[in-house]
Amino acid sequence: MIRKDDVVIVGGGVMGASAAYWLSRMGRQVTVIEQGEVPNRLSASGDQLRIFRLSYGKDAFYTEMAAQSLPLWRELVQQGSDKFFIQNGFLDLATQAHGYEEASLKVLKEHKIPAVVLDKDDLKRHYPMLNSRAFRFGLLHKDGGMLWATRAVSSIMGLAQRKGVKVRAHVKVTSLVQAKGSIQALKDSSGKVWEAESFLFAPGAWTPELLKSYRLPLKVTRQQQMYLRPPFNRGRYREEHFPPFSIAHAGFYGFPMHIHGFMKIGEFRKGAPGKPGDVPDREITPAFERKCRVFLKRYIPELANFTEFEGHVCYYASTKDQDFILDRLPGTANAFVMAGFSGHGFKFAPLVGQAMAQLIVGGKSELNLHRFRLSRF
Ligand SMILES: Cc1cc2nc3c(=O)[nH]c(=O)nc-3n(C[C@H](O)[C@H](O)[C@H](O)COP(=O)(O)OP(=O)(O)OC[C@H]3O[C@@H](n4cnc5c(N)ncnc54)[C@H](O)[C@@H]3O)c2cc1C
Repeated sequence: MIRKDDVVIVGGGVMGASAAYWLSRMGRQVTVIEQGEVPNRLSASGDQLRIFRLSYGKDAFYTEMAAQSLPLWRELVQQGSDKFFIQNGFLDLATQAHGYEEASLKVLKEHKIPAVVLDKDDLKRHYPMLNSRAFRFGLLHKDGGMLWATRAVSSIMGLAQRKGVKVRAHVKVTSLVQAKGSIQALKDSSGKVWEAESFLFAPGAWTPELLKSYRLPLKVTRQQQMYLRPPFNRGRYREEHFPPFSIAHAGFYGFPMHIHGFMKIGEFRKGAPGKPGDVPDREITPAFERKCRVFLKRYIPELANFTEFEGHVCYYASTKDQDFILDRLPGTANAFVMAGFSGHGFKFAPLVGQAMAQLIVGGKSELNLHRFRLSRF
């Protein structure tokens, strides 16, 4: 007789991959079902780079989570063959006093996380491309950096597969077979039934569609990003000279040059409502292009007249409070959900994957998941 899986995971993004990895380390038999390739280009994990930062304004809880994620990322990199984590620091640029960056500095200090404050002269010297007059100071923490997203997903899933996890790509789960108080099985679009003892849903921006009947409080928004080639002084934008950065007050973040001489900038703020695949994934609006130019003119003037660029679109699935959903599915003893990463989840993937695996296997996790419960809504 074929043994039923212990856990079936829906979603082969960074969260599904991380949970699969930890469950397999705990000796569980796991299958991951993914509607596309792993990694899937349309998914939130299907891009080039993601920021890894420990600065979170006054929100010490996320700083602590990032600090706990750091050794787990290092361990994953060590175990795999791909160095997908680049620790070239993270630069918060403050345009005002008593704001987000000052609060970040205080929390970093309290947690003994090394960080240096750069005054206008330091900024001018180290980052001559910046309009230093626009900033009050910079806050650089060296433990920050950037993660190659798709490479991280492939690497983590590869490690999970080495521990016996089965990955079923191009299989779309379309319905849940429910019995009283539990889920018995899942059905895919071909009618095939997938049984398991437990189920974990990590379907990213597709969560509202797949788990419709649970009415999870999530909003999906279309996020536009701009890849541009610096028109001058390209050497300055190399990763060894220019770390990923954010200007919280302006609502923008960016990366050094990283792919065919292109760098990326994006907006933190939530975009228009959308759903994956609703527009071509390179289609950005002229209004967004204009917004990027205005931002650059003010803060990194030599980039403002870029001529070579390409757009990229991906989707946030956000909660109202920007905190994640890491919980059991309401009314079901054997089903769990990790979703609502609200545009800032990637950096925590190994930690929250581990927490969900512990929750599924042992009923509780080392990480306090109280803040991520569905009952808060
Ligand atoms: C533009 C943008 C910038 C971001 N920047 C950062 C950053 O700098 N730092 C940071 O920490 N985080 C960042 N994030 C957030 C981070 O990328 C996400 O939190 C993370 O990738 C979410 O991973 P996931 O596995 O939950 O979802 P996804 O990566 O979207 O994976 C979900 C997977 O589920 C699959 N799936 C869905 N439905 C089904 C189904 N019915 N059947 C089978 N498979 C299904 C999908 O195909 C997909 O592959 C950003 C997100 C975006 C969109």
